[in-house]
Amino acid sequence: MQGLMQNWPLTADRFLDHAKAWHGDQEVVTRSVEGPITRTTYAEIHARAKRVSNALRGLGVKPGDRIATLGWNTARHIELCYGIMGMGAICHTLNPRLFAEQLVYIINHAGDRIIFADISLLPVLAAIRSQIPVVEHVVAMTDKAHLPAGERALAYESLVERASAEFTWGGFDENTAAGLCYTSGTTGNPKGVLYSHRSNFLHTLAMLSPDVLGLSAVDVVLAVVPMFHANGWGLAFACPAAGTKLVLPGQKLDGASIHELLETEGVTFTAGVPTVWQMLLAHLRESRGKLTTLRRIAVGGSAVPEALARGFRDEFGVNVLHAWGMTEISPIGTVAAPTGATLKMDTEQQYGAALSQGRPPVMVDLTLVNDDGARLPHDGKACGRLLIKGPFVVDRYFGDDSAHKLLDSEGFFDTGDVATIDSLGFMRITDRSKDIIKSGGEWISSIEIENLVVAHPKAALAAVIGVAHDKWAERPILIVKLKPGETGTKQEFLAFLEGKIAKWWTPDDVIFVNDVPLGPTGKIDKKLIRKQFADYRLP
Ligand code: ADP
Repeated sequence: MQGLMQNWPLTADRFLDHAKAWHGDQEVVTRSVEGPITRTTYAEIHARAKRVSNALRGLGVKPGDRIATLGWNTARHIELCYGIMGMGAICHTLNPRLFAEQLVYIINHAGDRIIFADISLLPVLAAIRSQIPVVEHVVAMTDKAHLPAGERALAYESLVERASAEFTWGGFDENTAAGLCYTSGTTGNPKGVLYSHRSNFLHTLAMLSPDVLGLSAVDVVLAVVPMFHANGWGLAFACPAAGTKLVLPGQKLDGASIHELLETEGVTFTAGVPTVWQMLLAHLRESRGKLTTLRRIAVGGSAVPEALARGFRDEFGVNVLHAWGMTEISPIGTVAAPTGATLKMDTEQQYGAALSQGRPPVMVDLTLVNDDGARLPHDGKACGRLLIKGPFVVDRYFGDDSAHKLLDSEGFFDTGDVATIDSLGFMRITDRSKDIIKSGGEWISSIEIENLVVAHPKAALAAVIGVAHDKWAERPILIVKLKPGETGTKQEFLAFLEGKIAKWWTPDDVIFVNDVPLGPTGKIDKKLIRKQFADYRLP
């Protein structure tokens, strides 16, 4: 027997409809790519997004077409995504920090018909224009007055102005594709994750729950994580759904610019990768700045160093909420929110739980297996491959017509991460399976050593990689970028680790470098570091 309730397709356009109807005057503030701070509301964004849908129709766009954006977080970018998705086309957010050859691959692979680009990113496109024949139009996300001299791209504002604001969104199946985001291709070619309206909808509901992000209409959210990084962590959906004031930083993610927005807009909640928060912390310390309204920072993408979490809490009274996820999971998989059991612990133990990658929300199922696929216990010790399943986890990659099955027989996706889960359900990533160091048949966690090293007062960044060893197969070496003006020795860094890690985990060498390369999503690029050290021999 079927239930007798309304069948209301869970499509993402409903979030902006809701924001317009019930939070229509709520502000959306942008540090525009052109320079000035601009202000709009959810009601205005809604009206302009409808015009975008009409403009797209005028350019011949049909449901299912891929329309790309190459832009920073701005109100225009949000209305554009809704305009694309609302008409049943697919919003493909491109990461401008990728290498040109990766962008070329991704754009052609996705078959993007139109690319909307910020003016500061037009040169990125100009450099590859001849290699992306699939693209029919480039639209510059600005008005006529700001189009760079000689630029042939259409001006976004002219398109939007001309288009009618009457457009009916939705009316299609909730499993229709809505968004496309490629993984940054740390192994092999980038892979496309094709989100559906339904997966985005359910992910948003999970995000809004109190033990995940717990956003509400009284929050002011600064969305630092770019919309092109892992579905923008879903903030473009969650903020209008909750009716939060939304602040968008545009291109400027340096400590001073972020601090200014946090204070002038009264931000209560923000989210992004650790490198951004390291820059903010350094800026606050140098400038003797304060955080008068900020309460919580969601940090993910790579592990939160303990020194970062302590710095924000002890010096600025701001809590760090540690989250783990990936592009393939829409992206949030776990969050380290407290439970009744952790609240009974002493402060240090509470810290331990808060620094783990956390527990899954409803709709996420996690399991740990060994190399033979056998399930491992949740005892905080057994370390294995982390598998995940749920309605916002990838089923197969975009355009992958091979017979290769991504999921195991029970429908689990292998995250490529290695982890433990303790008896209270807190998951801890010990490494990515391709970064873990296998020494004498045992595993050494590169992440754990790196997090300890960055607590050293002289260290700016640290990376630990495995190098070949005749007897042990692999041994760890530590690569350190010192803070400006500092000098350091191998002995002092090894002494700093003494007693904090098992003796056999101690790196065989410490190498000081001028720069540690960061990848396109602001994480340390281990693949590149391994390449740089390909000819390195242990002392
Ligand atoms: P990419 O690394 O290609 O930019 P993703 O953002 O999808 O793409 O990366 C997902 C991976 O990032 C995870 O599989 C995991 O290895 C790592 N990661 C994400 N969040 C955390 C975290 N909180 N702690 C440790 N690793 C994390």
